Amino acid sequence: MPCERLTGCPYYGENTPIYNGTGTTYRKTYCEAGKTNCARYMVYAAVGPEFVPLDLYPTMTTRAEQIIAELTAKNGWSERWQPV
Ligand code: SF4
Repeated sequence: MPCERLTGCPYYGENTPIYNGTGTTYRKTYCEAGKTNCARYMVYAAVGPEFVPLDLYPTMTTRAEQIIAELTAKNGWSERWQPV
């Protein structure tokens, strides 16, 4: 199932600061088929779109987990993200 963020996501729109040639593969793998494994989607779903860094790429799940953990601890939020 395609990600509902396709229209506004800078990664899908190729507006991210680094383009390394893997974009086409990642867009097919993550954006058009597997959003729940995407680092950007993880942060979006857990803490909101305003906390997704521009330079966060779909494969950077460790960094996504760090961002979510830091924000939820700092703000006392309960985490909404649940891996599927
Ligand atoms: S990069 Fe992630 S958040 Fe953005 S459209 Fe693709 S799957 Fe969705």
